[in-house]
Amino acid sequence: MSRSADMFARANAVTPGGVHSPVRAFRHVGGTPLFIRSAQGSRIEDVDGQRYTDFCMAFGPMILGHTHPAVLDAVTAAAASGWSFGTAEPCSLALSELICSRLPWVENLRFVNSGTEAVMSALRLARAATGRSLILKFDGCYHGHTDAMLIRAGSGLAGIADSAGVPPGVAADTVVAQLDDIPGLEGLFAARGSELAAAIIEPLPANHGLLPQRQEFLDALAWQCQQHGTLLIFDEVISGFRTAFGGMAEITGIRPDLVTYGKIIGGGFPVGAYAGRREIMQLVAPVGPVYQAGTLSANPVAMAAGLATLERLTDGTAYLALEDNGRLLEETLSGTPGLRLQRFGSLFWLVPEDAGSGEVIRTPAAFPAASESRFAKMFHALLAAGIYLPPSPYEAGFLSTAHSEDDIHALADAVRSSLDAR
Ligand SMILES: *Cc1c(COP(=O)(O)O)cnc(C)c1O
Repeated sequence: MSRSADMFARANAVTPGGVHSPVRAFRHVGGTPLFIRSAQGSRIEDVDGQRYTDFCMAFGPMILGHTHPAVLDAVTAAAASGWSFGTAEPCSLALSELICSRLPWVENLRFVNSGTEAVMSALRLARAATGRSLILKFDGCYHGHTDAMLIRAGSGLAGIADSAGVPPGVAADTVVAQLDDIPGLEGLFAARGSELAAAIIEPLPANHGLLPQRQEFLDALAWQCQQHGTLLIFDEVISGFRTAFGGMAEITGIRPDLVTYGKIIGGGFPVGAYAGRREIMQLVAPVGPVYQAGTLSANPVAMAAGLATLERLTDGTAYLALEDNGRLLEETLSGTPGLRLQRFGSLFWLVPEDAGSGEVIRTPAAFPAASESRFAKMFHALLAAGIYLPPSPYEAGFLSTAHSEDDIHALADAVRSSLDAR
């Protein structure tokens, strides 16, 4: 038995499913998860001493690669000065100023400890700012595990809980719309627009595969929000600082009222943030009536990691390198029989399918069902070839500035031979 398998058996005795976040359990691909003991650049090494080129990159935060020297130095220095003070400290100030000075839609921001917390807080704030209760979300978008977001489309406009333990009363306050459906959006706003506190969307949905949206669709959403006094929340936990420094707000030119960040903003440490126009953010305690707090919020070590990471992204060269890597992957895999690749910058999604329509997949309904089992086969073939993908057909892959051209070619070669072999 491998050490990983042994540890997984032990972990199952002490934690549900042996993992601390469900996708890590390999349920979608079969087998047992690797226990990773170290990581460097684009590589991870498991407790059995096997090395893999990593295209999961902790599901996004590691945009500079693992243990980047500048981030490691910043974190080490911060830790040596003490790692929690429970009071104001300079590092969160530096990170706030860096972000506010570069992103016009971020006039004020507040740090929290995860993307989930950022979304939860932004929703509360939107409800307070509008005096309304109803929230609109989109099928196929993920916003963390706060109750109000664990809702899927029910019959008519009412949402129903997508997790046990979410009360019907909470579900009733979330309505679910379809991506890429402008008439549906218009109908929904016509019916309930005046009740909607906020519409929240991943402007680049990347948690149910990668479902790029048309600019017209995002424009229509922004327009409807404006017409109905509904706040527009961009959940950029995955796309923020990833697709561009300013994420999809920068790329689309749409100005959200509120925005949520996570993942890259903490450089791989537990950090989230919610942000937006000053007049809205000033409703947050201690100046305003919206309560939100955190004992470990803006933890100085995490802030140092975020700052060192973001400082390396401000001049834009990282995004050119990431795009080069993404384009190389696309070029080397283009025309591969049995495969669809959807890509946006350094985010990619591999879909093993026979002959797709050729149309870009923009909604969960367009996902080819047969590709689930094919993905599982491909995943294990790649693992055997020393390549680690996110262990689910519904997760996007991530490139970092630490991936070399050789890494990309190795991925493409392994994908091709896994498809040939089936
Ligand atoms: C990852 C993610 C979240 C949740 O963030 P956590 O830090 O896992 O709580 C929320 N929204 C989006 C878009 C995400 O990608």
